Amino acid sequence: MNFLPYGRQTIEDDDIRAVQAALRDDFLTTGPKVVEFERRLAQCTEFAHAVAVSNGTAALHCACAAANIGPEDEVIVPAITFVASANCARYLGAKVVFADVDPNTGLATPATIERCISDRTKAIICVDLAGMPAEIDALAALAESNTALLIEDAAHSLGAAFKQQALGQAGAHLATLSFHPVKHITTGEGGAVLTNDAALAEKLRRFREHGIVRDADNWQNESPGPWYYEQQELGFNYRLPDLACALGLSQLSKLERFVQRRNEIAELYAQLLVDLPHVKPLTRPGYLARSAHHLYVVQVDFDAAGRSRREVMQRLRDAGVGSQVHYIPVPSQPYYAGLGEDVARYPGACEYYSKALSIPMYPALTDSDVARVVKALEAAVCG
Ligand SMILES: *Cc1c(COP(=O)(O)O)cnc(C)c1O
Repeated sequence: MNFLPYGRQTIEDDDIRAVQAALRDDFLTTGPKVVEFERRLAQCTEFAHAVAVSNGTAALHCACAAANIGPEDEVIVPAITFVASANCARYLGAKVVFADVDPNTGLATPATIERCISDRTKAIICVDLAGMPAEIDALAALAESNTALLIEDAAHSLGAAFKQQALGQAGAHLATLSFHPVKHITTGEGGAVLTNDAALAEKLRRFREHGIVRDADNWQNESPGPWYYEQQELGFNYRLPDLACALGLSQLSKLERFVQRRNEIAELYAQLLVDLPHVKPLTRPGYLARSAHHLYVVQVDFDAAGRSRREVMQRLRDAGVGSQVHYIPVPSQPYYAGLGEDVARYPGACEYYSKALSIPMYPALTDSDVARVVKALEAAVCG
């Protein structure tokens, strides 16, 4: 019996051929595949600009830098997310102000975020948990009326539709992607920042590459010759190699098929879970047109079932089914507790966390795999 992890990459023969071909090209790092991958990413998300970077965390760091976040600023971040969504503000010395979440969706809402706004708010980072976009249009309006930027951590939502619109039309000033193997498409490690604003795109490119300005029209000094380049601020090496972009391009051509299959799996889960006591799928927000279903999170009433989460996860593992918890509330992490956070201030996040369990979700799961997961879950929770 094969083990079913909670998530995994889908690599096919043509992906392997694409990487092999790229290995014979002239450029392994900065080459034509980077430009082409960025063009295709912008096209499929309907953003004007895409900047490929070395991973999703770097993408968040670049987005925060482009938003000019600094030590005097506050950045609002949902209490339920991966730690990177908050850490990016800390890299620039800003204070993270956590927003509580709706316990039924795990999403921070315009109401929970509005409560966190102060005159120091520089940016709102929203997270499209499990593949469900946050309420982007309302959050963008909230950001704008407080002269802040909306940064959408879209690591979970490539291929989602917000109110029938692609993510680029929904209103975020900057959006970030990750191409880690469990995400929708992979480049091994990789990420990207998306924006409709040309000036922000220029800042992102500069920050990605040491703070170096390539365009001679924007140099401060006169060029002494063809070897010249100019570093105008402090940046990093956050480039994504051409080799990785070759894989990304091949993967991106399959995005629609992958997301379609994820939606089919989600529908099957929803049908099979209807009669399962103490277990229900995460609630979909009313405005959601299409989830990208990065994760399949169920809410388990462990107390009512009389089974601990640890026991349920062990029983699932014994049945060959992987599971995980997305996520531990970030304010409860010792690093943030050390900055004065107390997770008890986030009752929605605590309630969400107490029930959350991610079960297998990736395009290669078959219908019979899905049935096997639900049987194992039933035995683990009720058996
Ligand atoms: C995966 C992920 C990231 C970070 O991406 P990496 O590519 O692993 O650095 C950031 N935010 C969220 C919500 C993620 O799921």
